[in-house]
Amino acid sequence: MKFVYDFHEGNKDLKDLLGGKGANLAEMTNLGLPVPPGFTITAEACKEFLKNGTQVDGLGAEIDEHLATLERDMGRRLGDANDPLLVSVRSGAKFSMPGMMETVLNVGLNDASVDRLSRQAGGNDRFAWDSYRRLIQMFGKTVCEVPGHEFEDALHEAKVAKGVKDDVQLDADDLRALVTAYKKVFVKHTGHEFPQDPREQLDLAIAAVFRSWNADRAVLYRRQERIPADLGTAVNVVAMVFGNLGSDSGTGVAFTRDPATGEQGVYGDYLSNAQGEDVVAGIRNTLSLADLERLDKKSYDELMQIMATLEGHYRDLCDIEFTIERGKLWMLQTRVGKRTAAAAFTIASQLVDEGVIDLDEALIRVSGAQLGQLMFPRFDLSGDPSPITRGVGASPGAAYGEVVFTAQRAVEVAAQGKQVILVRRETNPDDLPGMIAAQGILTSRGGKTSHAAVVARGMGKTCVCGADEMEVGPASFTVGSHTVNEGDVVSIDGTTGRVYLGEVPVRPSEVVQYFEGDLDPAQANDPLVYAVHRIITHADEKRRLTVRTNADTGADAARARRFGAQGIGLCRTEHMFLGDRRELVERLILARTEAERDDALATLLPLQRADFLDIFREMNGLPVTVRLIDPPLHEFLPSLEELAVKVAVAHEHGQRVEHDEQMLAAVRRMHEQNPMLGLRGVRLGLVIPGLFAMQVRAIAEAAAALAAEGGKPRPEIMVPLVGAVQELETVRAEAEKIIAEVLGSSGSAGSSASPGGSAVEILIGTMIEVPRAALTAGQIAEAAEFFSFGTNDLTQMGWGFSRDDVEGAFFWRYLELGIFGISPFESIDTDGVGRLVRIAAEEGRAARPGLKLGVCGEHGGDPDSVHFFHEVGLDYVSCSPFRVPIARLEAGRAAV
Ligand code: PEP
Ligand code: MG
Repeated sequence: MKFVYDFHEGNKDLKDLLGGKGANLAEMTNLGLPVPPGFTITAEACKEFLKNGTQVDGLGAEIDEHLATLERDMGRRLGDANDPLLVSVRSGAKFSMPGMMETVLNVGLNDASVDRLSRQAGGNDRFAWDSYRRLIQMFGKTVCEVPGHEFEDALHEAKVAKGVKDDVQLDADDLRALVTAYKKVFVKHTGHEFPQDPREQLDLAIAAVFRSWNADRAVLYRRQERIPADLGTAVNVVAMVFGNLGSDSGTGVAFTRDPATGEQGVYGDYLSNAQGEDVVAGIRNTLSLADLERLDKKSYDELMQIMATLEGHYRDLCDIEFTIERGKLWMLQTRVGKRTAAAAFTIASQLVDEGVIDLDEALIRVSGAQLGQLMFPRFDLSGDPSPITRGVGASPGAAYGEVVFTAQRAVEVAAQGKQVILVRRETNPDDLPGMIAAQGILTSRGGKTSHAAVVARGMGKTCVCGADEMEVGPASFTVGSHTVNEGDVVSIDGTTGRVYLGEVPVRPSEVVQYFEGDLDPAQANDPLVYAVHRIITHADEKRRLTVRTNADTGADAARARRFGAQGIGLCRTEHMFLGDRRELVERLILARTEAERDDALATLLPLQRADFLDIFREMNGLPVTVRLIDPPLHEFLPSLEELAVKVAVAHEHGQRVEHDEQMLAAVRRMHEQNPMLGLRGVRLGLVIPGLFAMQVRAIAEAAAALAAEGGKPRPEIMVPLVGAVQELETVRAEAEKIIAEVLGSSGSAGSSASPGGSAVEILIGTMIEVPRAALTAGQIAEAAEFFSFGTNDLTQMGWGFSRDDVEGAFFWRYLELGIFGISPFESIDTDGVGRLVRIAAEEGRAARPGLKLGVCGEHGGDPDSVHFFHEVGLDYVSCSPFRVPIARLEAGRAAV
């Protein structure tokens, strides 16, 4: 197997092998852009290395060969004491993981070559010693696990001793002394001297980059971003170019469009006389690209041209890293850039206008998860709150919470169920757990390209950065006359960059207002609303799946309809038995005679009829699947423990509490060890006479009433928890009788004449949520006009995971071990539970062609699951009202 590729040998489509960075460096090389020569060691080599834990067979020889070519191209040898070639060793996986893995710069430098490096740089001693101290620092930290703060402390001491603020103010002698100090730190922690052999440095750095794939923060980031754990990282070995050669040199990062808003026009940060991470780490305040134009017009013009070339080539927003070495521009990286959800929609729509992509591709380039973010509320500024300060709106959203100052506190306080805002001077990759736990991130330094901004955007977290009026201390920050302590509440606006004291109220986002019909996209004059409208309209044209909603009230049904729902896929009738009606259910359960039970049911009937009529009216003309009552009845009774105590206390005081005693007896009688597997769903309907019948009658009567008003009800009666066709047949026979009675026809469920004269059709079907039902779907289809997959229970019973208990109890361990990448209750387990869906769909349709198939478990609104249901050939997905637009979009994406 070939493990090493020269930049000339790769291209942008080889990301699996060369990682994103390597593939794009190769692409830029082949486009003739100024990329320093180098080669990429594949992710396959990394996987081998991690498997064996040692060097990979044959890799060393391949590196020798490519290093020799690089040395020939550069006319210098690695670390040559007379004329050293230095290289950078940079990680780069298939998916971008900003700052999560390692990089070592200036590899090859040692005591002998540092003077020669100075001579190469025209007698620039300062530069040579600065490069050497950086190597020891990065190598020490990355390769030998020397605590990074020890180097930072030594640097800080050097600055204090000299009485300066910035590291650029240290001269060559200071840096030479710093190298001596760094070497001492190195020996103290490793027990040996800093390695002087350039090739040894290179090999150790490559191994360290391989290992950094499994660093804690990289593992956490992958889990958060759902990046597979087994990809490995490629390693790029690149000839060094130097941004720290003086004021005519520097390094920068840039985007071809604004990654926060999608606005057209380049955006970037530049730092002169700097190297590597300096720009994103926020160590000095950066300059803008406009400043660069003033400083170095030639490089700026070339940069603009290259950025235009890259956008044209990748047909998308690109982000880049560049270095200027003494007026010569070098490209160190490019990739299709991370962007906010708003920018994703806006840019996709702009690119359609520019004729670069078509609407199908625009649809592919956005996601349901991004649309979901755009539906989060915004701050309501009608009360005119005044901001205490302002930074850069780096990742949008409206977040408020208690202020914390360390990642660790963020995790601790969030674990108490509180919302927190993580405040830092700047973030670094070690802050990742805190960034995940926080509602939002606020920093006093760094721009839109800082680590905090890039990572927050990737996660869809609200972030304000570079609020430089803030003085951030260990347990408080001050801004003007305000001091904000840990635990105080602030609100941050990731769009405008404003920071407020206290909790600012929120209002619906523009995108929600659009879905509600309150914003006309043609008149809103808002590029985002227009882009969302345009792309979701295209999704609607493309999708095959219908999207319904899960709703139990007229109000929910109405909202879902505004959001584009094409019917109700699940109306959970048990929700209609709560509140005041609980007492009626109690009467039903406690009934000692048939007459008492009939009386309780007769009281419930008109209430249910009114419920259904309300919903049928809101969904007039669209199908409404009403599920007969599902959960165990004891859920409607008081808790066993509380009632037992109450009765015992009463008895102790010599009181008789007849009602409570009766109730206690009933609760005891109905108590189950495993209620989820107990008397619920169809079992309840078969055991409590009259219960399902009452519901079926209420549905039929409500349908008749709407038809009499001239409406078009389309009810579908759904039986829950069926595992055997006989269960369904029994319920069906009774239901058909009642429907015929109400609608005045003898027919089976199906068309019946309503009193109003218009035809009412009531379908009868079942949920498929017990594995046995899925496996006997062919039989069950004989008695069902539709199936709706209850993937919540199907997951629960398929895996044997209690849906109410396991997520908090042990899923974290399963996620950690990679047994699954995401909870199977969130996104369908396609291999197992999905297979049950597939079997049932195929066998059900084989037995009854035209059988209507849908899904109403939580997965109906999950983007990945929607793609699966499309592929399996379901007719519709049903999800909560707020997820309806997301499902519409994803169903469209699945179809293009
Ligand atoms: C299901 O099990 O997927 C379902 C929709 O029913 P419920 O969540 O009410 O059990
Ligand atoms: Mg269920």
